[in-house]
Amino acid sequence: HHPDRSTVWVGRPGRQVPIGPATFTFIAGPCAVESPDQTLEAATMARAAGATVLRGGAFKPRTSPYAFQGLGVRGLEILAAVGQSLGLPVVTEVVDPRDVEVVCEHADMLQVGSASMGNSGLLEAVGEAGKPVLLKRGMTATIEEWLMAAEYVAQRGNLEIVLCERGIRTFEPTTRNTLDVSAVPIAQIESHLPVVVDPSHASGRRDLVVPLSRAAIAAGADGLMVDVHPDPEVALCDGPQSLHGPELRALAQAVRQLPPMM
Ligand code: PEP
Repeated sequence: HHPDRSTVWVGRPGRQVPIGPATFTFIAGPCAVESPDQTLEAATMARAAGATVLRGGAFKPRTSPYAFQGLGVRGLEILAAVGQSLGLPVVTEVVDPRDVEVVCEHADMLQVGSASMGNSGLLEAVGEAGKPVLLKRGMTATIEEWLMAAEYVAQRGNLEIVLCERGIRTFEPTTRNTLDVSAVPIAQIESHLPVVVDPSHASGRRDLVVPLSRAAIAAGADGLMVDVHPDPEVALCDGPQSLHGPELRALAQAVRQLPPMM
């Protein structure tokens, strides 16, 4: 039993942010939480650009085991403190079902990443956690597989699910992944869930974030999730796709200029 198009509310009672058809939600923040200063700076930039939800990774399942893996619980603490100081609810990734409890203590929304989308044990654990879930599409998942992953969460009694299209693996090497714009209306037609787009992880390229954001908005996305970093050159994770000053201002303007389809 659900409406044709659901709205998911994120954050503490009284300060909740909606994600759904009647609004357009801008989620932004650092790809990875690196330090208190870096997180505060990124979050301040994100909020100034119009973000109402702060993102930030504390558990980072990277392609290489030798790459920065995140600050773990310390990263959660930093993210929660910065979110609280700026009045922004926070979303962060949980990778291991055993970490769901500690992530819930610090986050307003649990993110299931692309690499974890098919982990049924994790999906069930977040389905039981009592927090809204941001479910990213697996990079090799069909739309049906993605929606079935959402069913694993829903089956455990949690319908507070936001789908996130973040690009799929194709033969095209110019971008890290290929943004599947058609997945936005298809997932909205096939499910009642809000659909947001992550142009940062879709492209891996800062210069493509604004055009892909425009495409997502035109396709009817319910929101965007974007990486922001105060100094992308020294970022410990995904600097080349992270926005800073001028690009972030261009994105804020694009979001304002292209009102979402209602
Ligand atoms: C992220 O959003 O931090 C992330 C790692 O994205 P994805 O799971 O889409 O690769």
